[in-house]
Amino acid sequence: MCDAILELLAQFSETYTLAGIGVGSPGPLELPAGRLHHPPNLPGWDGFHLLAEMEARLRMRVAVESDANVAVLAEYTLGLGEQLGVDSLCMLTLGTGVGNGIILDGKLWHGATGMGGEAGHMTINPDGPVCGCGNTGCLEVCASATALVSAAERLIGSGKAPGLAQLKCDGSSLTALDLAQAARQGDPDALAIYQQTGRALGIGLAGLINILNLPLYVVGGGVAESWDLLAPSVFVELERRSYVYALTAPGRPASSGMPGGGTRVLPAKWDPKQAFWARASFPCICREPQSQTRDPSPLAATERDSRRQISAPSRIVCREIVAKSTCTSP
Ligand SMILES: [Zn+2]
Repeated sequence: MCDAILELLAQFSETYTLAGIGVGSPGPLELPAGRLHHPPNLPGWDGFHLLAEMEARLRMRVAVESDANVAVLAEYTLGLGEQLGVDSLCMLTLGTGVGNGIILDGKLWHGATGMGGEAGHMTINPDGPVCGCGNTGCLEVCASATALVSAAERLIGSGKAPGLAQLKCDGSSLTALDLAQAARQGDPDALAIYQQTGRALGIGLAGLINILNLPLYVVGGGVAESWDLLAPSVFVELERRSYVYALTAPGRPASSGMPGGGTRVLPAKWDPKQAFWARASFPCICREPQSQTRDPSPLAATERDSRRQISAPSRIVCREIVAKSTCTSP
């Protein structure tokens, strides 16, 4: 990844002024040290000093955050948070795992060591599958893309899902998208898997709503593209398990005066395929050449611009750069 960054710097440094380098990483990520600790979906990276290693290789300051924190920052600054005018929101990202980012009163909630917002590892089913974190039945093993595919594989293995088995008849691996297509075509097993996944997600969100009482909860990541399949069972669980939701959903007795018109639970505005903020893999902010004043503190510029003042042209530059920077190693 550092090689790719250096290549981009060489390519764009004549035209643009670099304001900062930001990296979204799978967690848990200890902050401010920027060190990884047993990341469940990144085997072999335990103890890796991500921040120190990148700053040493790039010889400049780097800002690191958990990927879900960067995703929620994106929704806050450029997505639904901006659209609804809220200063607090909670986001779950459903992908390989389940990430979580929380913004309270305009600030990312880091907790004491940067590991706040790990709701992907709250227990949904005490007797559920083993999670990479060591627990059983985490939201991550009940509502991620990996969980969807695993549930389908289990059904196929038991011989009880002939429709799904046909999807694999050519020997290829199943994806969550395959399952979504099968569900939309009426396959009962695929529909049941999405219903179960929505149920797990609803149970998790109900707990978060009861704890946080925020005006907005955003569901992002690749699985959120199938929000239409998840939403019915999500809202059944919210009504059943969260009295805070029941009281504060739009139109309910305690919703008046809430920004956004009540507790909102919505799919993310930023599609991960857009390879930008919602993907949260490589947020980088550039200044246009007409802004001639070079900021002496790249990190400070990154933090400031990561709020709502990012200019539209800067966003375009970010998209161009991020689109060319999908990396899997430091
Ligand atoms: Zn877990």
